Amino acid sequence: MNLEALDKQYVLQTYARDYTNFTHGIGSKLYDDKGVEYIDFASGIGVSSVGHANKHLTQAICEQAQKIIHISNLQVIEPQAKLAKKIVELCGYDAKVFFANSGAEANEGAIKMARKYGTVNFDTKKYKIISLGHSFHGRTLSALTATAQESFHPDTFAPYPKGFSYVANIDDIYDAIDEETIAVIIELTQGEGGVMNFDKHKVQELAKFLQEKKLLLIVDEIQTGIYRTGSFLESNNYEITPDIVTVAKGLGGGVPIGAIITRHKEILSAGEHGTTFGGNYLSTAAGLAVLDILSELKQGGQLQETIEYFDKKLDHIIAQYSDLFIKKTGLGLMRGIVAKDDAIKNAVIKNAMKQRVIVLKSGRNTVRFLPSLTITKEEIDEGFARFEKALSETRVS
Ligand SMILES: *Cc1c(COP(=O)(O)O)cnc(C)c1O
Repeated sequence: MNLEALDKQYVLQTYARDYTNFTHGIGSKLYDDKGVEYIDFASGIGVSSVGHANKHLTQAICEQAQKIIHISNLQVIEPQAKLAKKIVELCGYDAKVFFANSGAEANEGAIKMARKYGTVNFDTKKYKIISLGHSFHGRTLSALTATAQESFHPDTFAPYPKGFSYVANIDDIYDAIDEETIAVIIELTQGEGGVMNFDKHKVQELAKFLQEKKLLLIVDEIQTGIYRTGSFLESNNYEITPDIVTVAKGLGGGVPIGAIITRHKEILSAGEHGTTFGGNYLSTAAGLAVLDILSELKQGGQLQETIEYFDKKLDHIIAQYSDLFIKKTGLGLMRGIVAKDDAIKNAVIKNAMKQRVIVLKSGRNTVRFLPSLTITKEEIDEGFARFEKALSETRVS
């Protein structure tokens, strides 16, 4: 049975899958089972933050696996404690960390924290969480309910948890807050919603307002965090210190890990939240290696160089292909180019794959780029050369 047939027969078909069989990679190059090379401008979906087969990361994983992979969270776990320290140092403010296995799970924990905060700090319980249109917060029931896109809430999966409400944009939050509201959850740059970022001043005003009212700001940095937008956290760019930040995707370089970072260091006590796998030796050893690599790239200035190099390529695309695209969006190495319509976007992504460069979609019309943060200039050049071929092909069809 070939791989496609095997997948179709035995794996639940919850994805509209491409059937290229990638067998290995190195840096931002991927190879399929016929040895054909692809340039990876997607890193999974912003996960392989240090590229494929990164020596430092694979060595850390192998060495850890040979010693101990897992023990329960009832024991202290050395790399977990060290990773928490590193994360707090990189955040730049006093906080503590809880480790989960994924983004959605980190958001679930953040929602629980907010609800507890709203229970113990007010005379009458506050529990409602406001989220923003076009947001994406994950696939578990609460995270899905927090995701402010109606298409994610079909009747098929009802009933959804109570306590979530939606606004179109930041200005609408103020009127939406009622006696029972405890928190606002926001992605500073919406990853799935079109790589659109919110105005810095408006976010700062919101953060100040919430703080004055003793309400919580939860920033979902599952996609934007871990240097994706140029700083360790995008909230660092916005110069805010949120009550709770969730991260995941890039943190383990592909090993599943999520984390909740909070300034409310005593918000949960023993027994109130937990996980079997979260923060085990393997994932936190991977996280430590990833942060070693990325914090060095940031400090040495190479990350900024890569970001600027990539940005120039996008400028070139927008200038040369104004018949296909309207503008570039995003920041750091979380970028988008907005196509004139969704048919163009779909054709570009398909033709790019044919030309052996992997890009993603976002929102309705946006072609999204989430390359590894260690991508080289040579890989960027090659990727865009192929991407331009895909654009020429899109033009004639
Ligand atoms: C990917 C993502 C999630 C969900 O993360 P999972 O690991 O798939 O559960 C949540 N929020 C944002 C902003 C994301 O990009």
